[in-house]
Amino acid sequence: MGNEIEKLQKIIDESDNIVFFGGAGVSTESGIPDFRSQDGLYNQKYDYPPETILSHTFFMRRPEEFFKFYQDKMLCDTAKPNAAHLKLAELEKNGKLKAVITQNIDNLHQMAGSRNVLELHGSVYRNYCMKCGKSYDFKYMKEVKGIPKCTCDGIIKPDVVLYEEGLNEHTIQESVRAISEAQVLIIGGTSLAVYPAAGLIDYFRGDHLVVINKVPTPRDKYADLLIKEPIGKVFSQIHV
Ligand code: ZN
Repeated sequence: MGNEIEKLQKIIDESDNIVFFGGAGVSTESGIPDFRSQDGLYNQKYDYPPETILSHTFFMRRPEEFFKFYQDKMLCDTAKPNAAHLKLAELEKNGKLKAVITQNIDNLHQMAGSRNVLELHGSVYRNYCMKCGKSYDFKYMKEVKGIPKCTCDGIIKPDVVLYEEGLNEHTIQESVRAISEAQVLIIGGTSLAVYPAAGLIDYFRGDHLVVINKVPTPRDKYADLLIKEPIGKVFSQIHV
């Protein structure tokens, strides 16, 4: 893949208006399981499929079971940023990358040093009391037993977009703006199967569309550069 890396390096070198759009594949290389992959959470044994447990209806009706699953499967605090997270943070620091738009909820881009991170599906690092709005951190949610309750006795809800819930309007607007103004859009570690997030790609009007993903995506045919390799492996070879 030497030639492809050289092409990517050239595209990155020549632009100071890059936007990155990433999905689960960016996190799996840091050890966070992918819901939608075959060996991911969907195939693990639980009373209900994860997409049922992680729905708004289930959260409201069976909070004990929701939080049992959530604390067990969603709160991973051992994952570390990989080469993709680190290089993207460096590109931002150098003024070349304008935004990271992510479907992940694990905070790894921020841990790597990225500042402008648009989290389409929220973050397990933000949690709010449903009654009074008081905020609680990751550690509290990780250590609490049973249903996390506020000092006011309200239930604390993770700021994560559950199934049946809409995306944050402000995050969508910022993402549309970043993508529509970008010169280079790098899509990585996502099969672009989850809407409405995947639909944001339609706003790109720039010069170079780069797709880095192990498996085919619906946008491969529009890509100026298509790299079918793990994203961390690709970025580890890029010089910033
Ligand atoms: Zn409260």
